[in-house]
Amino acid sequence: YRTLRLVLGDQLNHKHSWYEDKEADTLYFLAEMKNETGYVRHHVQKVVGFFLAMRHFADYLRQDGHEVLYYTLDEERNQHSVTANIKALIEKYSIQRFEYQLPDEYRLDHELKSLCGQLDIETEAVDTEHFLTARDDVESFFAGKKTYLLETFYRDMRKRHNILMEEDGKTPLTGQWNYDQDNRKKLPKKQDIPKPLHFKRDVTEIVELIKAAGVETIGRIDPEYYYWPVTREESLDLLEHFTKIRLHLFGTYQDAMTDRDYLLFHSKLSFAMNAKLLSPLEVVEACVDYWEGHQEQIDISQIEGFVRQIIGWREFMRGIYWAKMPEYAKLNYFEHKAPLPDWYWTGDTKMKCLHTAVNQSLDHAYAHHIQRLMVTGNFALLLGVDPDELDQWYLGIYMDAIEWVEITNTRGMSQFADGGIVGTKPYVSSANYMHKMSDHCTNCAYDRKKKVGKDACPFNSLYWDFYDRHNDKLGNNPRIGMMYRIWNKMDSEQQEAILKRAEYIKVHINDF
Ligand code: FAD
Repeated sequence: YRTLRLVLGDQLNHKHSWYEDKEADTLYFLAEMKNETGYVRHHVQKVVGFFLAMRHFADYLRQDGHEVLYYTLDEERNQHSVTANIKALIEKYSIQRFEYQLPDEYRLDHELKSLCGQLDIETEAVDTEHFLTARDDVESFFAGKKTYLLETFYRDMRKRHNILMEEDGKTPLTGQWNYDQDNRKKLPKKQDIPKPLHFKRDVTEIVELIKAAGVETIGRIDPEYYYWPVTREESLDLLEHFTKIRLHLFGTYQDAMTDRDYLLFHSKLSFAMNAKLLSPLEVVEACVDYWEGHQEQIDISQIEGFVRQIIGWREFMRGIYWAKMPEYAKLNYFEHKAPLPDWYWTGDTKMKCLHTAVNQSLDHAYAHHIQRLMVTGNFALLLGVDPDELDQWYLGIYMDAIEWVEITNTRGMSQFADGGIVGTKPYVSSANYMHKMSDHCTNCAYDRKKKVGKDACPFNSLYWDFYDRHNDKLGNNPRIGMMYRIWNKMDSEQQEAILKRAEYIKVHINDF
């Protein structure tokens, strides 16, 4: 072979221009590597999902007429490091040119750059041809600004890509950019929820392989019923299922939570997109096309909400990642140091909202945005959990967790550990919000109305404790002023009782 091309596990883009030529002297290389699974403990469904998707992708390339070398986890030649594997292959096949697609992870980007620096053959890094923006577009867009505002970026993206725009290309359809205010409904008791689309597969063999190789995982799996999409066809089926069955209520119940179901009207497309089996533009176009043909059944607020998540938030977070790494991974604005409660790993808590969110994460490697932000994230922030510990959890537990999108959402949006780059104020709430958006509080061991006392919902005292202890950092924030006025109006006895209850909870958190 003359050229060696590396394909990483999250670079399964069938439409990449690399594959237009079928050169017999180009060798594509994919490998299941212990190093890539070992830097944090991942959910077993996630490890299985990436390996399966990679195997299918390698088969696809072969059938498409390409030369492919694939190392399974137990392959003898596999040295379980990108650098070591590539160096060995270059030597073995007397490779004259090494090419790779730009990785989305800072660590790997660094590793590959440094590898190329050590090689004495030609090397080239090409784009993954997946995102709508280049790595540094967000940084240039906000050059000189302290806060990065999603809304300005999002509007620019709508215009640039002519999505949901009037013919002039400048005015949003209907004249309104954003329907976020309409998208905040609780799920009515009688609302039917569609069944998720599952792709049933027996993955016993690959689960055994992972165990035998000593890869430590978290979470639960039924090896005889693995249901994530791992091929391009399945990903397209899931996309079609979403447009037909879920899109019409996506926006309305986007923020709702219930004991009855884990998915509601969400798409569950993040894994397929993050592995690059689907491109963000094709997802958005498929949904907009469907909406255009069904405007009587689907309100514009549903599609707008969905489009914003993908061409807005998803691209925005990636841009922040490249603008702020590697410093971003160390930010801890509130200097939080508390350990993560043990029950984040077991689901064994009496708080119904957390019990539901954590157990479904362990069962399905999935939680929707509001569960991540306003249940597990919110609680950890109130408690003062060290963002490093939280990153490990979020990076491990979710099927879609890849650092560029995990860390910006966790440290930035959810923990405000960046001091306000991603968001303008911390996302915290007491039990009020939980009750407003979910049915969890009605079945909970704790009383959502109480702040103190044995059965008082822990969110309530921790909420005030959070504001009290961060007065110096948040007191001047105009968006939070009202909360401080309420707190300051309480008499000192009441304040003391609340802070005492919060202290008790913090010390005994594993018993809650
Ligand atoms: P839907 O609700 O159907 O939304 C559609 C798509 O929009 C998603 O598939 C996703 O690609 C995109 N999207 C929505 N919100 C965001 C967002 N805030 N940032 C980036 N893209 C978004 N998303 C990940 O892909 N990987 C992560 O590791 C991840 N970690 C998160 C951690 C925290 C603490 C929080 C608050 C959010 C995190 N998110 C992450 C964002 C979001 O929660 C998930 O993308 C979403 O829940 C995936 O489920 P879905 O495909 O059903 O999404």
